[in-house]
Amino acid sequence: MKTMNQRYAGIDYFRMIAALLVITIHTSPLLALSETGDFILTRIIARVAVPFFFMTSGFFLISRYARNTEKLRAFVRSTLQIYGIAILIYIPINLYNGYFSGNHLLPNILKDILFDGTMYHLWYLPAAALGGTIAWYLVRKADYMRAIVITLGLYLVGLFGDSYYGIAETIPEIHSFYDLIFQVTDYTRNGIFYAPIFFVLGGYIAEHPKKLSSVQSVCGFSVSLGLMLGEALTLHDYDLQRHDSMYLFLLPCMFFLFHTLLHCKGKCSRLFRTSALVIYIMHPMVIVGVRWIAKLLHMQNLLVNNSLMHFFVVSLTSAAIGITAAEIWNRCDYGKRKRIHGTDRAWIEIDLNNLEHNAKELQQAMPPKCSLMAVMKAEAYGHNAFAVSTHLNKIGVKSFAVATIDEGISLRKYGIRGEILILGYTDVHRVRDLKKYGLTQTVVSFEHARTLNQQNIGLKVHIKIDTGMHRLGIPYDDFSEIKKVFAMKNLNVYGIYTHLCCSDSLLPDHVAFTEEQIHRFFRLIDLMKHNNMSVPKLHMQSSYGLLNYPELQCDYARIGIALYGVLSTPDYNTALKLDLRPVLSLKARVVHIQNICKGESVGYGRAFTAKKDCRIAILPIGYGDGFPRNLSCGKGYAQIRNHLVPIVGRICMDQLAVDITGVENVAIGDTAIMIGSDAAAELSAPIVADNSDSISNELLCRMGARLPVIERLVP
Ligand SMILES: *Cc1c(COP(=O)(O)O)cnc(C)c1O
Repeated sequence: MKTMNQRYAGIDYFRMIAALLVITIHTSPLLALSETGDFILTRIIARVAVPFFFMTSGFFLISRYARNTEKLRAFVRSTLQIYGIAILIYIPINLYNGYFSGNHLLPNILKDILFDGTMYHLWYLPAAALGGTIAWYLVRKADYMRAIVITLGLYLVGLFGDSYYGIAETIPEIHSFYDLIFQVTDYTRNGIFYAPIFFVLGGYIAEHPKKLSSVQSVCGFSVSLGLMLGEALTLHDYDLQRHDSMYLFLLPCMFFLFHTLLHCKGKCSRLFRTSALVIYIMHPMVIVGVRWIAKLLHMQNLLVNNSLMHFFVVSLTSAAIGITAAEIWNRCDYGKRKRIHGTDRAWIEIDLNNLEHNAKELQQAMPPKCSLMAVMKAEAYGHNAFAVSTHLNKIGVKSFAVATIDEGISLRKYGIRGEILILGYTDVHRVRDLKKYGLTQTVVSFEHARTLNQQNIGLKVHIKIDTGMHRLGIPYDDFSEIKKVFAMKNLNVYGIYTHLCCSDSLLPDHVAFTEEQIHRFFRLIDLMKHNNMSVPKLHMQSSYGLLNYPELQCDYARIGIALYGVLSTPDYNTALKLDLRPVLSLKARVVHIQNICKGESVGYGRAFTAKKDCRIAILPIGYGDGFPRNLSCGKGYAQIRNHLVPIVGRICMDQLAVDITGVENVAIGDTAIMIGSDAAAELSAPIVADNSDSISNELLCRMGARLPVIERLVP
């Protein structure tokens, strides 16, 4: 599928290249051939590697909408965990090198842990944690432009302690300033002066996509690389460099390189993602190992002194270790649940692989220029909007729809990028929030448009057209009003849409009405064209609209229920039959088991009386969790130990009883499935919903409140 998964392939592949470039810095492959050549490769070109890693982290981490620190904390935590492990791994080499026998051991260790790394390459990890945090707060507190100015200032300070140190040295005050810095850290290439700008740039690019064409990106990259070469060689010639990782032209170079990578098509590689990190961390160990083995085998001339050979052996070995480790890591991760806790009572499990599969399946069913607008309203139909939206965003879904402004703000706070369309009414008092969070508002009537426009704040809007549902929208035949909305100076109309009210039905009457709705909508669009109005993005299909009218030429399809892998009712009779896989399962633990004698009753109102001796299990789930009360007294079921067992008596707010008579070995702690694809057909959401006289949409979206959600993702 074109828009998904392939989006970050360039970044994934370049991770490997960047890891190899870092190895060149530490092995100097060209040294035996040409000193200048080696300088150009290892001290100039290879200097893109680490900024690339920072930008990639920034690309996925930094967001101007981020309000809760969860993502940042997870990033810092995992970076520091990796750092901790790396420090331990290198202790033997530290010991061997006499690291622990120097003077001022404690201050030096502190300095190394905080800034320089306890091994020469490990500075990267504290720099990532610190630089990422600085960038995150700057973008959040200020905005991108101010964050860029501030981090650029820091970078310039760093620059004069690095490649331009020769100039700084000539001015005594500045010289003593740097002396001070160098007492705390060996280089200015660290988490304060160096890393933040690249994190900010990464986030900036993520939130301002498609600004540059591929030609512009490649040209920009080539020119800035050329300028950086000139800059570095000049600095080198004049012997101004104290260290050689920071250049002025490194910034444009990285900016254009990153854009170039975003234009690369291909398949994303999780393997490369993990391997590159392992290669980065392990290659100095490999260098030591190769030297040691070469000495043992008396092959120093071939394996060490021949710099090119040395580089190849180190790279191949590191890559082999990296890929093996990544492979093992991925296997261990296999089927890992993100939140193991929370399965002690009743819980929802969402299968993100199925979600991803459905997203692709639906996208493929659309005409080429149409893209998926994922509907996230009501906690993503009870599936947990955070888990669902962040996963979809990660695999390349760029348009989302919500019902309310607060749902839209939540998505932004989760770090969701791309378009977020509010399908419902938003009061004019909240236009500032629309602007602040970059949300797109639906114009639900001419009056709404007029009052929104009066606020004098530029807004992105889609116009809703009423073609016969008579819920929201400007009537399709009010052309003059529609035209006026387009002319309103504070409303930027990015889209125009309608909603089909009986596209789920294939009854002739309903089909005729839907066709009339479609016809009305496109007639309006034609009229707009005749009046030389520019036509914005069009959309009208929801799940059933797509499944029954897949041929419609629109720019988006607003898909809700089908994305979650089910249809509204058990009747699967749609024109297009897709392989959709249910995402949600609802489960509960057996917490109590008892024998009930004939004549005894169970639950409120004595609604169930045992006709014979039976065995009852109590499940701690009820209508307080959104499980419908009208599934009481045998209308609903659970599955325990592969047996379908009926619900007996009335469902309470927090508990229900099932009859497990005849099912062997049921024990406390067993899992009962209430809704789920991995259970009997009777427990699929449409059937459970049907049993409770409702549709899947309602059943699912009512379960958002009290139940923990466990994400499952098999890589
Ligand atoms: C909820 C909603 C959708 C999604 O509907 P599904 O049938 O769940 O795909 C699409 N458009 C609008 C306007 C909606 O309110």
